[in-house]
Amino acid sequence: MQRQQEKPTSKLRRFRLYGPCSHVFDASHTGSWRVERPDVAFDKCVKCGICATCCPANVITVDKGSAECVRIMWDYCKGCGICANECPQKAIAMIPERSVK
Ligand code: SF4
Ligand code: SF4
Repeated sequence: MQRQQEKPTSKLRRFRLYGPCSHVFDASHTGSWRVERPDVAFDKCVKCGICATCCPANVITVDKGSAECVRIMWDYCKGCGICANECPQKAIAMIPERSVK
């Protein structure tokens, strides 16, 4: 399986969302205890951006000009599965973290 490219979420955007707590999130890789991770089927994705809007950790970026349009910041993704539940195209599947090499 091809790993998705990571793109850092803007520090300014995180600060607007979390205030002073954003510094804590920056310092600790909260995705380290993730059990499952989202796996995006790019051929099904219509680039609507709903997954990015719904992600409680704000770690999804949708780049409409790229073939691999959905980027996830793995250091901070919790594996909660909300993005997979909300995707209208069912383009996101949750897969076991250990299955990724
Ligand atoms: S699994 Fe949860 S934290 Fe990870 S990208 Fe999806 S909604 Fe965000
Ligand atoms: S919600 Fe689904 S279809 Fe929309 S951008 Fe995210 S992965 Fe693509």
